[in-house]
Amino acid sequence: MIYVIGIGPGDIKGITIEALEALKSCDIISGYKVYVDLVKDFLPPKNFEVYPMKSEIKRCQDALKFSLAGKDIALISSGDGGVYGMAGLMLEIAEGTGQEIKIIPGVTAANSAGAILGAPLMNDYVTISLSDLMTSWEIIEKRLSAACEGDFVICLYNPASHHRPENFKKACEILLKYKSPETPCGYVRNIKRSEETHEIMTLEKIKTCGKIDMLTTVIIGNSQTYISNGKLITPRGYKI
Ligand code: SAH
Repeated sequence: MIYVIGIGPGDIKGITIEALEALKSCDIISGYKVYVDLVKDFLPPKNFEVYPMKSEIKRCQDALKFSLAGKDIALISSGDGGVYGMAGLMLEIAEGTGQEIKIIPGVTAANSAGAILGAPLMNDYVTISLSDLMTSWEIIEKRLSAACEGDFVICLYNPASHHRPENFKKACEILLKYKSPETPCGYVRNIKRSEETHEIMTLEKIKTCGKIDMLTTVIIGNSQTYISNGKLITPRGYKI
């Protein structure tokens, strides 16, 4: 059996009981090194298959081989495996093989970041990844504009990397065509890992704050979002 397991954003406290039990029961734990290191110390001795970044297809192909050989293998993703994680690819690669795949959800970065920043996701929101490795920048721009037209709260994953440091600034420039420069926003970096940091500021400021990288999740408010007591709040509409 293949399990695709979301381990939550960082430390072991953010993993679900179901995910931890499944990890304990598997013969092999497979994943990107950083994620394997987050769970390793909490599991009995196992066969850990550690992979570098960008080896996702190989990881799934190997998982299929192990499973066909009768092993229970856990493919781990940070956050939730079904949110820019390994779940979809694993299902695609196993198509037609008859292999059983169980997907165990985890707490995704949007929810974790939302909780740290306050309650910005109380009303409709979208997540948009700014990684243009597999989605063209043209489509990403369209999605950013459409999300603004719908006045969604926007949660940005993969906001910037060494290879594409400009994507975040370019995205903010699109958002600023629709949203006020004063729109409340926040970022959280390294959620539930060492050196977690967060800040709340305006859209105009976050564009050039210089703190946004691959380890960061950014939340941009909608037209109703406001800051109170250092927290972001998007009212759901209760009359109080
Ligand atoms: N499957 C993951 C997302 C993987 S995409 C999930 O559900 O959370 C990778 C992006 O997720 C990062 O670029 C960042 O935007 C966000 N992310 C994942 N873990 C994070 C963490 N611990 N702190 C901040 N952002 C995180």
